[in-house]
Amino acid sequence: MRYSQAFIPTQREIPSEAELISHRLLLRAGYMRKLASGVYSWLPLGRRVLRRIAALVREESERAGAQEVLFPALQPLELWEETGRTGMDVLFRLQDRSRRDLVLGMTHEEVATDLIRSEVRSYRQLPLLLYQVQIKFRDEPRPRGGVLRCREFMMHDCYSFHTSQECLDRAYGKMRVAYARALARMGLDFVTVEADPDGFGSTNHRFVTLVDSGEDLVFLCDSCGYAADSDRCELGDPGPAEPIEADPLKLVRTPGMRTVEEVTAFLQVPAEKLIKTLLYCTQDGDVVAALVRGDRDLNEAKLERALGGVAVEMASAEVVERITGAPVGFAGPQGLEGVRIIADRELQIGGNWVAGANQADAHVLNVNAGRDFQVDLWADLRAACDGDPCPRCGGELEALYGIEMAHIFQIGTRFSEAMGAYFQDAAGQECPVYLGSYGLGVSRAVAAIAEQNADVDGLLWPATVAPFDATVVCLNAAQDIEVAEEVYGMLQEASISVLLDDREERAGVKFKDADLIGIPLQIVVGRGARDGWVELRVRGRDVREEVAVADIVGRTLAMRRALISELDRTAAEAEAAVR
Ligand SMILES: [Zn+2]
Repeated sequence: MRYSQAFIPTQREIPSEAELISHRLLLRAGYMRKLASGVYSWLPLGRRVLRRIAALVREESERAGAQEVLFPALQPLELWEETGRTGMDVLFRLQDRSRRDLVLGMTHEEVATDLIRSEVRSYRQLPLLLYQVQIKFRDEPRPRGGVLRCREFMMHDCYSFHTSQECLDRAYGKMRVAYARALARMGLDFVTVEADPDGFGSTNHRFVTLVDSGEDLVFLCDSCGYAADSDRCELGDPGPAEPIEADPLKLVRTPGMRTVEEVTAFLQVPAEKLIKTLLYCTQDGDVVAALVRGDRDLNEAKLERALGGVAVEMASAEVVERITGAPVGFAGPQGLEGVRIIADRELQIGGNWVAGANQADAHVLNVNAGRDFQVDLWADLRAACDGDPCPRCGGELEALYGIEMAHIFQIGTRFSEAMGAYFQDAAGQECPVYLGSYGLGVSRAVAAIAEQNADVDGLLWPATVAPFDATVVCLNAAQDIEVAEEVYGMLQEASISVLLDDREERAGVKFKDADLIGIPLQIVVGRGARDGWVELRVRGRDVREEVAVADIVGRTLAMRRALISELDRTAAEAEAAVR
């Protein structure tokens, strides 16, 4: 491609709406443009990166035995009614001219299971792994970071169908390797973490790239390798409780003091002496009181797990007033009627707590479990923190932020039972099909790679996903274009994808654009050109070689191979780590 004819609208100024480095650079370097909130157009450079990422994931999923299909984005709502998933607020819904309800697919478990129930009769037809690379839709309440979290995006999704849990386990293992290898080959640094079994109620793992700008919190143990996301991260037993002498209850006035900070400052007690009483309404219409220490945060996913997978929602101010007889901010566990009390296990240690008095502007001192209130269930409810003990080995957990790149689930027979996807086993018995589901964000990967591979000058694409393998920068087009054209032709002949900067621009502008766009190999045609020499550089590295024009193809291929084999080595390590 000749730069003079290419559509690469770079910008010098920093786009004001973009906070993240990846978002700024992808806009500035002309990879994409925003159409509406969370909706982006991919320009030629961005489209090329997307294609190469998709190609990597295709290659790895075919290695795992998956076959490519293309399911419709437009799906009948009835399919979602069968699995009871129409209530999701991120589901885009619409009606056709005959007022039939449709959805725009955010995932394809229903569509894939529908296909299997009508096509698969016998155990001989299984297992089957079907994947696609397709545009997905999600009515995201808070689009963020450009294509990092948006409403229309490209995904790789795969569905596997099996006769048994053992067979599902094997495919799950293979897809786990496929995703680990694909992400590593893209140059992404990531961890695999155990995730909350909520949602599909079974084993699932997330692949999270570690970047400070990420919003997903994960916990890692250096000593034993335990890794879990914040919803999953278990906290071990807090240890034996020391007997404590319960002091008499004492009511204290706390006018207008609702938050932990206000109460602790006013009463001059540390936050870890407080009990936070949080009221939740369950999907079954019950109210539960969840208790955590004042210096802790409650994790709602843990609360839902403790309740046996029942969804909860924070109680409204009206419900709080009805149950406690006090405005929000003064709830305590003592004397609550018709409410189940679920307490974080950490509250088994210590006593003489400070709690809300269940009356306006008052708290109570010396509240004790057993004497002043009864706990219906002790559970692990609190959010994990940096430095908490590892649930496996007792070592120290490190909290890190990241971006979820992929998520894999063992769904089991839940959807096939709901939708009637059965097969006949060898004995002629009708059995439900086992389902596995796998998804990797292709457009999100563009942003994540950019977020992890950038410097002050611009993007630094890994050789496997770069829009072009090399760029030929002709510093003085008037004098040296013939040499540049010769190099360009030779590289293309050798199947190296090249962007030739043939513009009538100053050398400085061309270098700036080359660095901004971030193509890994730069071939500079400058002063030495008339004597048959060009310079080969690697973007972002201290590599500069004078190369004779006659040798440029060989050197470029060798350099490209070296860059790719670095990534292949990381992929082999990533594979070994998840096996
Ligand atoms: Zn550990």
